[in-house]
Amino acid sequence: MPTELTEYDPTLGNKFVFVTGGVMSGLGKGITAASTGRLLANAGFDVTAVKIDPYLNVDAGTMNPYQHGEVYVLKDGGEVDLDLGNYERFLDIDMTFDHNITTGKTYRHVIEKERAGDYLGNTVQIIPHITDDIKRRIREAAEGHDVCLIEVGGTVGDIEGMPYLEALRQFAHEEDDDDIIFAHVTLVPYSKNGEQKTKPTQHSVKELRSIGLQPDIVVGRCEDRLDPETKRKIALFCDVPVDAVFSNPDVEDIYHVPLMVEDEGLDEYVMSELDLAGEAIQKADRENEWRGIVTQETTEEIDIALVGKYALEDAYLSIHESLKHAGFETNTDINVLWVDADEMDGDHEARLERAEGIIVPGGFGARGTEGKIGAVQYARENDVPFLGLCLGFQMAVVEFARNVCGLEGAHSAEMEESTPHPVIDILPEQYEIEDMGGTMRLGAHETDIEPGTIAHQVYGATACTERHRHRYEVNPEYIERLEAAGMVFSGRAENRMEILELPDHPFFFGTQFHPEFRSRPGRASPPFVSLVETILESEETDAEEVTA
Ligand code: GLN
Repeated sequence: MPTELTEYDPTLGNKFVFVTGGVMSGLGKGITAASTGRLLANAGFDVTAVKIDPYLNVDAGTMNPYQHGEVYVLKDGGEVDLDLGNYERFLDIDMTFDHNITTGKTYRHVIEKERAGDYLGNTVQIIPHITDDIKRRIREAAEGHDVCLIEVGGTVGDIEGMPYLEALRQFAHEEDDDDIIFAHVTLVPYSKNGEQKTKPTQHSVKELRSIGLQPDIVVGRCEDRLDPETKRKIALFCDVPVDAVFSNPDVEDIYHVPLMVEDEGLDEYVMSELDLAGEAIQKADRENEWRGIVTQETTEEIDIALVGKYALEDAYLSIHESLKHAGFETNTDINVLWVDADEMDGDHEARLERAEGIIVPGGFGARGTEGKIGAVQYARENDVPFLGLCLGFQMAVVEFARNVCGLEGAHSAEMEESTPHPVIDILPEQYEIEDMGGTMRLGAHETDIEPGTIAHQVYGATACTERHRHRYEVNPEYIERLEAAGMVFSGRAENRMEILELPDHPFFFGTQFHPEFRSRPGRASPPFVSLVETILESEETDAEEVTA
């Protein structure tokens, strides 16, 4: 379980950028905030971020990916909102569990303190006890960094968000003006006759002001850049200077957002408001580094099938991003072909067969597992490059046990408790656990890699540290049989099997961990790069064979 920070030292001198959202959710507020952070990092500042999720869950671990997208896992094992993944990728930092503030966490802490007698004699209230705890958490997460971005999830006006906005109001009251800036991200839609409409923005800023918060910056999410007239209107009605209104138009690739907002001078404005302009350094070099990575010309194009059960890109966000990073590194455009493991016929089957590589991602529960096992078998028998991640790794073991070792009915005990061959079984330390929240094997653990194996080539090292999130693992009783039939466990953490490979296949690689959580633009995850490289190499060989 990740630990929580203790009390805050009030002698800190950080800068805070608060980001709120108006009109509707899903505007890409997190990407806007992360992009601003990237630009500040380009200017040489140490930037960190905090995501506030006003829901009552203590963390994202127990939530269905259909509702909130993937559960992102931090190195300390925190199970958090996927926006933290965006911050890690954009800022190239590792964050910790205390960078995700939820209502569940805050209330639990305050109620525990109440029970312990810490507030003896007092009535415990949202103001000041909850708001104090929110402010403490923000300040602690910012500690030691130059700038902290704080994104408030949801939309201004939501009941759940009220204590947070009140905490921000107090925060602004307590800090110096040039240490804090409020950015409000809203939607600027088009009317039927093609006019950019500012009324929704006006309303949401009005709502914000009624709570006592005045934005310093307004960012308009729009299909295109905001017209000068739109900016003038927003400035007038929202009471901000015209040059504090920025466009954030739709772009094809989220990694281009920093380039877009930089064009409009968002970073310069933020730095001057925070009195940081004089300290900005090295901007040109770092800016070019990011631009260079994300605007790489692509020379190749490949199709990779993702065989999962949630037909929602956000449910596998980090995998999509890892593929993009591997694409940056290999100048390759990667199309992800969605294959529904629960519906492996027709179009889905055709896409699986069209793909040049196959990924079976993580997951929980029985639905879709036979489809995943079928996809593994197809990849293994047809020499299609394959990457199995967590549940995908486990399904590769099940498939091999059934079809190569001849262990009829082999399965994971998670899917079928009474299987005659539980080749994947519950981790011993999980036997007694009944609590579902934060109790899996979580976070960064080191894996030892066997020299001379494919894993050794992939990682270029004899150890790797990757993030985990699982309750089940390869059952030690079956390892000998699996190995005798040709499966190689090339990565281990003591007696746990962490990496599997098949030596006589072009690339058949599985990891019990989730390498996708450590992939970054400019530092793509090794298993993803190897998957893409194998596909590119086999295409080259095919092309040579045709010409020969
Ligand atoms: N459900 C499997 C387990 O708990 C795999 C988890 C995952 O894919 N993250 O071990």
